[in-house]
Amino acid sequence: MPELPEVESIRKELESFIVGHTINKVKVNYGEKITGDIKKINGGKIERIRRFGKVLSIDLNNNYSIVIHIKLTGQLIYKGPNLKRRNNISKKVVGGVPGKHTHVVFILDKDAILYFNDYRKFGWIKIVKTNRVKDIDFIKNLGPEPLDGLNFKKLSKLAASYNGMIKTLLMDQTKVAGVGNIYANDALWLAGIHPEAIASDISKKKIKDLYEAIENVLKRSLKQGGASELAYVRPSGEEGDYQDHTLVYGRDGESCKRHKNTKIKKIKVAGRGTYFCPKCQKK
Ligand SMILES: [Zn+2]
Repeated sequence: MPELPEVESIRKELESFIVGHTINKVKVNYGEKITGDIKKINGGKIERIRRFGKVLSIDLNNNYSIVIHIKLTGQLIYKGPNLKRRNNISKKVVGGVPGKHTHVVFILDKDAILYFNDYRKFGWIKIVKTNRVKDIDFIKNLGPEPLDGLNFKKLSKLAASYNGMIKTLLMDQTKVAGVGNIYANDALWLAGIHPEAIASDISKKKIKDLYEAIENVLKRSLKQGGASELAYVRPSGEEGDYQDHTLVYGRDGESCKRHKNTKIKKIKVAGRGTYFCPKCQKK
């Protein structure tokens, strides 16, 4: 699932593409995952785009917001002015735009269009008053976010009071916002912590390493435009590059980047693929 770097990469591109545009018309082809009155956004001018964990809020000048969680396969694809390269849409945009997986088409002024595609249909859109965005359950319950609010002290406190596995803690959006499977795996490897280690047993020194590792992997991915797994593409239609630069994620059977002779192992933690080096990540 797209995580902080992916959704932030989408946010940044959307900001450069659609802020200042007015929504002239909205076409809904599949509306089951839309709540709120979509008509309220007609005529609204896009003022800013905010991100809360993995959720985006497109705020309009008429006091309404379009809140979007792309979940597993949602895609926001832009066509119009400001796009440097055209016709460079990734094959991950299954069916194209518009296509059979295009659920919503936002027709903007100045010949611009924003498409929402989602072939697995897990994503959702909520139309709410801008001053109620923070009341949406998903946003209300978010924990502090790395690079913006989370610090070593907070992470240390969270870990000390958590008797489950550290990887499960990192992926719990109500504890730490925006970190999912890829970055939890890579950060734990970088900090030299076993993903199944019990959070409250980990030393303060190691938690400090982990805090720095989380920031490190997220920043690296942001530079690479996120990781393109499954269906993640940016609004330009292009993919990210982080998947080619992961530290352990998806690298089972390959050599550890620290220990040439040790192979990365794959296990499941809370049902998710978990990768670690048995030599540098001991329980
Ligand atoms: Zn190793």
